[in-house]
Amino acid sequence: MDKEKNVDISIIMPAYNTEKYIREAIDSICKQKEPNVELIIINDGSTDNTEKIIEEKMKEYDNIRYFKQENSGLSYSRKVGLDHSRGKYIYFVDSDDYIYDNSLLEMFNYAEKNNLDCLMVNARFQNELDNEYGYRMDKKNVVSKMDTTEITTGENLLLEMIKNREWRYAVWLYFIKKEELERVTFFKDFIHEDSAFNYELLNKLKRIQFVDKDVYVYRLRENSLMSTKTSIKNILGYINSYMIIYNTNNKKDLKYEPMLFEMRIFDQIIESYGLLGNDKELAKKEIVKLKPLLEKRHYYYVDKYRDFLLDLNDVKTDNTSKLNQLDYIDYLEVDIVDHCNLNCNDCTHYSPLAEPNFMDALSFEKDIKRLSELTNGKINSMVLMGGEPLLHKDINKFIRIVNKYLPDTRLQILSNGILIDKMDDDFWNTCKECNVQINITPYPINMDYYKVFNKILDNGLDMFIYDNGQTKDKKFDRIEYDYSKSQDLLSNYLECNMAKNCANLKNGRIYICPIVNNIDRYNNNYGTNLEVLENDYIDIYDINSGKEIYDFLAKPVPFCGYCDVKQKKKVLWKRFKEEE
Ligand code: SF4
Ligand code: SF4
Repeated sequence: MDKEKNVDISIIMPAYNTEKYIREAIDSICKQKEPNVELIIINDGSTDNTEKIIEEKMKEYDNIRYFKQENSGLSYSRKVGLDHSRGKYIYFVDSDDYIYDNSLLEMFNYAEKNNLDCLMVNARFQNELDNEYGYRMDKKNVVSKMDTTEITTGENLLLEMIKNREWRYAVWLYFIKKEELERVTFFKDFIHEDSAFNYELLNKLKRIQFVDKDVYVYRLRENSLMSTKTSIKNILGYINSYMIIYNTNNKKDLKYEPMLFEMRIFDQIIESYGLLGNDKELAKKEIVKLKPLLEKRHYYYVDKYRDFLLDLNDVKTDNTSKLNQLDYIDYLEVDIVDHCNLNCNDCTHYSPLAEPNFMDALSFEKDIKRLSELTNGKINSMVLMGGEPLLHKDINKFIRIVNKYLPDTRLQILSNGILIDKMDDDFWNTCKECNVQINITPYPINMDYYKVFNKILDNGLDMFIYDNGQTKDKKFDRIEYDYSKSQDLLSNYLECNMAKNCANLKNGRIYICPIVNNIDRYNNNYGTNLEVLENDYIDIYDINSGKEIYDFLAKPVPFCGYCDVKQKKKVLWKRFKEEE
């Protein structure tokens, strides 16, 4: 290093027991003579020959600055290195990895020429485990998909990564101007801090660019962080990251995309929890502390997070709990439009077979008033659906009717999202006033679902996203009919997801599921005669109390004998009448 000149790059290298690799790491940096580089090594309490090798290398190269400390962890060491650094740019290299020739000069020149706050580069994995058996796999790139290569803001780059489902936050992918780094909280003492650090940093950067250039080689080895056994420390690390990202997001308008970063960390919490050997109880206590935060996020209602948290709370439900009679209606669907603008094969409402038809608001009001009297308003949630409910031009009337007669009921609308963008202010205001939650099932169609989710969030409504927002390989359940009607009623009732969970109101009658009240569409189309008997529904004008409805829903109906629930298949989603 030319000691007279300013330092161009400070490379920060924490080192802990890496005697086997640190030579290569140091050489890969110090043999690069340009630009003016200082290598700051923090020996984090190594107990092997790491120090001896560093000292050897210090005799060979004059640009190494060496510090040692008691073992304090990777984050702490990086922070110590940063405090000692003098370079215009900072780059982090782990002592068991290495960088490619000339990479430092290339990164420096590029960042200077383009006046970047940060340059994002590519890296390769090197599988050291296979290597030891003499087999060297092709080194796979760390960043495999990135469409943004222009100079952009850090926020845009983050969005690009999360949309590609490839958020890469390892510090060694980022060549950063020191003054930018100083604006970010550097987390000293937890593991998995890279994600939180990256999120905070990128949200502040105005000029960043991704250049698809291999700079770094990351060794996957037995003792590296990524391959060690999961412990409570991992969970605590992810929880800290979650909190930091959550707080960063709270400083801006809540949109769907930023929440995806929180989800990504929550996914890691779930994954680590699953891999945890001991300390599960301890981890549980820590994770459930996040519950209030998740509840503030609408995605608390995303299937897998809700299920995970329920599981942590030991709320176990089994099929037989369906037989317990309640003293309220837990859930009730109403199809306010028969037809749909999507027409999926295997639609459980047989909407593709329906003639266009809109429910009449007056008869709906009569039914809701009657139900309110029978149940004393005790209906937990009601879902307006279809077909596609947003096709109904009077949808606001339906919302207000439910709100009037069932003010304590959680009202939801289930939509495929296609019309969300077209809904007018009246609709959004009505939803807001009546505290409506919008549920979206995304489908593999040409639609920007992020835009849909953001529209709902922009209007301040709660939202539930089915299938965790995924559309790839979307599947539907398909139940075939047994025309001899010889299926076991009770076991069908217990095993069928729809029984009781999708109770449906139509023309003053409550059905156990939408199949029964819509089977006429199927019969008409396929020339079958699957019969709906009097016991297959309950007429709300023929009864005197809500209890009769609760009784009715807590047991199978004769129609269940038609359904071959045991042979239920998962079939790939497709439009009605599309070729298999
Ligand atoms: S979007 Fe829903 S209602 Fe419409 S056809 Fe598909 S499954 Fe049926
Ligand atoms: S009729 Fe019974 S078994 Fe068939 S789908 Fe409905 S609830 Fe399930």
